[in-house]
Amino acid sequence: MHLTTRVIISLVLGIIVGLGINFSGINVEGSFVQEYLTTGAFYVVGTIFVNALKMLVVPLVLFSLIPGIVGIGDVRLLGRVGSKSFALYMFTTAVAIATAILFAAGFGIGEGLPLAGNAEFLGQEAPPVSQVFINIVPDNPIAAMAEGDMLAIIFYSILFGISLLAVAKESPDLIKLVEQLNGVMMKMVTIVMHLAPYAVFCLVAKALAELGIDLLIELVGYVLVLAFALVFHVLVTQMTLLKVLGRLNPVMFLRKIRTAQLFAFSTSSSGATIPITLRTTQERLGVDRSVSAFTVPFGATINMDGTAMMQGVATVFIANIYGLDLGMSGYLTVIVMAVLASIGTAAVPAGGLVMLTMVFNQVGLPVEGIGLILGVDRLLDMLRTSVNVTGDAVVTSIVARGEGKLDLEVFNDPEAGVIDD
Ligand code: ASP
Repeated sequence: MHLTTRVIISLVLGIIVGLGINFSGINVEGSFVQEYLTTGAFYVVGTIFVNALKMLVVPLVLFSLIPGIVGIGDVRLLGRVGSKSFALYMFTTAVAIATAILFAAGFGIGEGLPLAGNAEFLGQEAPPVSQVFINIVPDNPIAAMAEGDMLAIIFYSILFGISLLAVAKESPDLIKLVEQLNGVMMKMVTIVMHLAPYAVFCLVAKALAELGIDLLIELVGYVLVLAFALVFHVLVTQMTLLKVLGRLNPVMFLRKIRTAQLFAFSTSSSGATIPITLRTTQERLGVDRSVSAFTVPFGATINMDGTAMMQGVATVFIANIYGLDLGMSGYLTVIVMAVLASIGTAAVPAGGLVMLTMVFNQVGLPVEGIGLILGVDRLLDMLRTSVNVTGDAVVTSIVARGEGKLDLEVFNDPEAGVIDD
């Protein structure tokens, strides 16, 4: 059986078991189920797996980006890849949030809902966008790596790669060494991926067992509209871009991106999914390392289509509940703020909620309103993280195709890079 098939089976089992626990109401404080399963075995296995993924990220990015840059051999190409991917990442996020606002406003979600009195949420201070730019240049590269500070790591690796290229003649062994280290890291990714069938079950079962089902019913409008908008964005917007700008087959793409989507869904972290996204784009979609080693970690950090959509729908929802009219200029502000916020949003579970505080503050919506959607956010986080990761892979494929760095033979081969058990 293919590994992805086993992961899908474990995901479905996780959903069934998680919902079963939830509906039967046995996951109460101090109960056996809670102590030994949800916060016991499920939590332990799930967290070990997420840790294992995270431990791969920094060395993987380092050792694919450095030989990737050396492999391009042309700094101008790097500039083009950088500017094109940045433009596309911002553009797709802006389209995502505009679509989300249109859907949410069209359905009029939240209108007349008497929830406003229940809201409780203390806003967290979002980092100012200027700080995000300053942090790109690390004052201490080791600290940046220890912190997993992705933009700083990317910056440092690029500089290292360019310098290595400049002294390539004197250091052929070093170049070979980073190449080989990259091979080792890629191997580690496949080893860790073999844990997925067990871990995905645990992660999903825990998340669904703890989900506020009553809230889900109360907030059904919000959840359904957001879920619909997310699916629409992947199937219509992203696939149209892939077809038109990348001249690539969306069906083949969707089939191959599934593994990364599953990992994103179960971990709710595009940061932790970087190893899988890198592997999928390179070995399944045929993108050259020189492009994906840069665009994937870059996208995981700054590109958040799904998160922006949540912010758009949440804004309309809360505004309607409180009976506030943001008007055209309010919504435009939301779009601009959400696109900026996506750059600074941490690619971790619930990272998007922190930035939602900033968006709300900007347009004068009550921050405590966020408390209303907290209970269902876990589930929606899983969905939007999958959309975030899909967006990274779409832009990576488009940019690679435009630069002649995508191997069509690999892309069109359904079996390329699959992992069998
Ligand atoms: N969990 C999301 C991610 O890692 C961020 C968020 O929307 O909360 O991509």
